[in-house]
Amino acid sequence: MIVLIKKDSRQEEINKLIHWLESLHLQVHVSEGVLQTILGLVGDTSRVDIDLVRSMEIVEDVKRIQEPYKNANRKFHPEDTVVEVNSAKIGGGGLTLIAGPCSVESAEQICAVARSVKASGATCLRGGAFKPRSSPYSFQGLGKEGIELLLIAKKETGLPIVTEVMDPSQLPLFDEVDIIQVGARNMQNFELLRELGRQRKPVLLKRGLSSTLEELLMSAEYIMAGGNEQVILCERGIRTFETSTRNTLDLSAVPMLKQLTHLPVVIDPSHSTGISRLVRPMSLAAVAAGADGLMIEVHNNPACALCDGPQSLTPAAFDELARTARLIHATLQAGKEFS
Ligand code: PEP
Ligand code: MN
Repeated sequence: MIVLIKKDSRQEEINKLIHWLESLHLQVHVSEGVLQTILGLVGDTSRVDIDLVRSMEIVEDVKRIQEPYKNANRKFHPEDTVVEVNSAKIGGGGLTLIAGPCSVESAEQICAVARSVKASGATCLRGGAFKPRSSPYSFQGLGKEGIELLLIAKKETGLPIVTEVMDPSQLPLFDEVDIIQVGARNMQNFELLRELGRQRKPVLLKRGLSSTLEELLMSAEYIMAGGNEQVILCERGIRTFETSTRNTLDLSAVPMLKQLTHLPVVIDPSHSTGISRLVRPMSLAAVAAGADGLMIEVHNNPACALCDGPQSLTPAAFDELARTARLIHATLQAGKEFS
């Protein structure tokens, strides 16, 4: 349920209403927008007498929210959430480029890639230390050492780092990680999501291989219900009957999610296509569809990558893509100003 507060209402009156709602064992989420203050209520709202609330002097309207996700719902929070990590901003109209190798392999590799993607305009460095692989015989990532190497690259370049956690027991190693990634396979690991809700660090939540957008938003809700509102959603392709690409990139997820939620939406064209030459066209299409950012796998020597070489871009290809993506983004922004 949301309570729309009349413009120019006194803060004292709003606080009184909030305390009363809290006394009904409801959590009250306050969204102070430029145009309007909205109180989002979470909990058993059947106790609330809608007519009574509607009749209050400061209340403009009361509406029930049908969707099961509340904190993530745009109706609760009409303005875009912007996740800020050091100098990087994700959401709110910009275009954030997150780039780096599938897996961290060595200090030389991660630092070389970090330097080149930074020069091309990436503002976050990705790199897997704990790798969820389909085969137990494949390279599983460097684990703790991988995180240490990411921190060296962070120190050298100043780029904030994004890396995946697979289990809550690994979290003590993530103290200096800037954005914690939840991979597609863990999107419904509810214990992990709950744990990430208890900490205060941005989470990049990837859509599960066979998950609906509502399920993705419910997973975001798990994190947000714990009080951590810094969630970035990532569409990374879903499982369909098509076999010519690794997954099928659901680009309609971008405008759909933008309507349903205030959380930033990032597209991963690497895992969704699995083919490096498809990364550029799908990245550009994602920017045109309104994505807040792209997460792209870049390797200094894709042919020798320990993981996901066939979908990785060379630094030169990433540089060209970043330029074109920014041009498309700028054109769209200019179009918005004139419309
Ligand atoms: C990744 O980004 O490294 C990864 C494993 O992606 P996904 O969880 O989308 O497969
Ligand atoms: Mn990968």
